[in-house]
Amino acid sequence: MNKITPQPGILDIELYEGGQSTLAGQSNVLKLSSNENPLGPPEAAKEAAARAVHDMHRYPSTDHAALRAAIGEVWGLDPARICCGVGSGDILKLLAEAYAGEGDEVVFTEHGFSMYPIYAKACGATPVVVPERDRVVDVDAILAACSFKTKVVFLANPANPTGTMLGQAELVRLADGLPQTALLVLDGAYAEFVDGYDGGASLVTERENVFMSRTFSKIYGLGGMRVGWGYGAKAVIDVINRIRGPFNLSAAALAAAEAAVRDEAFLVTGRTENAKWRDWLAHALADVGVPSDTSSANFILARFADAEEAEACDAHLRGEGIIVRRVAGYGLPNCLRITVGDESGCRRVAHAVAQFKAAG
Ligand SMILES: *Cc1c(COP(=O)(O)O)cnc(C)c1O
Repeated sequence: MNKITPQPGILDIELYEGGQSTLAGQSNVLKLSSNENPLGPPEAAKEAAARAVHDMHRYPSTDHAALRAAIGEVWGLDPARICCGVGSGDILKLLAEAYAGEGDEVVFTEHGFSMYPIYAKACGATPVVVPERDRVVDVDAILAACSFKTKVVFLANPANPTGTMLGQAELVRLADGLPQTALLVLDGAYAEFVDGYDGGASLVTERENVFMSRTFSKIYGLGGMRVGWGYGAKAVIDVINRIRGPFNLSAAALAAAEAAVRDEAFLVTGRTENAKWRDWLAHALADVGVPSDTSSANFILARFADAEEAEACDAHLRGEGIIVRRVAGYGLPNCLRITVGDESGCRRVAHAVAQFKAAG
């Protein structure tokens, strides 16, 4: 018998599947499966990363001071309460590891981001899945599922893959109602797409039990660079800094992110273009009988009659060189998640869905 065995929970983890990016025999592939920015990265970020490569023989900064200062300035936050990770996923995983273990519970919702159960199982904790109400997070159901065993509650707002979000009053009610042992982690991967939403920052400023994570992978167009950040109570930031890799972020990634966060015009353009084409796409799909909930993010959760129709539409789109995301693994077998592309991408996918519906 093999005596070299991993910690309990690890072999229960199902491998995360990223959005596919190629289709056999297709050259003009339109990838709308990973919520990437159709505008690409900011020019300033590309230039900063290119400059950074000249010093690639040097170790990068361990304290990320320049990036934290830039984030603090732009978002009006105390840099001492910010930490940086290899994508925001790194930080979410570290939070689970730091605060939960065997016998503890990590809470998230039915259609929550599929990495949450992975983080829970990886640290040996028990994942607790809470039902939603018509694809919207239900605060009362979360509170009912919590106990003194709850150590971390993961909540993406706006949520992926539903695109729905909770308002400030609901977030406050959740933060106030949790057991004292539980850290509420507001995953703000899509926060910048919502004009006027602070991602939960003000809640974090006021409370010890709320943490906010943010990413450069979505609106900033830097998914390939792997940079995310978190804002939390000083005590939580201190814990993350003790267990993260000291050189977790490369110099090129740090430079690109710093340039990106300072490019506020890029952010505004990304948000405006996304809102415009997201609404256009939602209407175009609704017009051909494919409804979706109002999305606050950079994707639409298109609803079909049943799983069979969703699968058939996915197959048709692939035939047209378009990759969207199947979300059966999120408990949404009758849906497809479609990233909002640029104008031509939105027109192309809308046309292909209309073609599919007309044929069916
Ligand atoms: C994309 C995404 C992230 C961000 O992942 P990174 O590790 O920062 O690239 C986090 N949470 C949700 C819900 C996401 O969709």
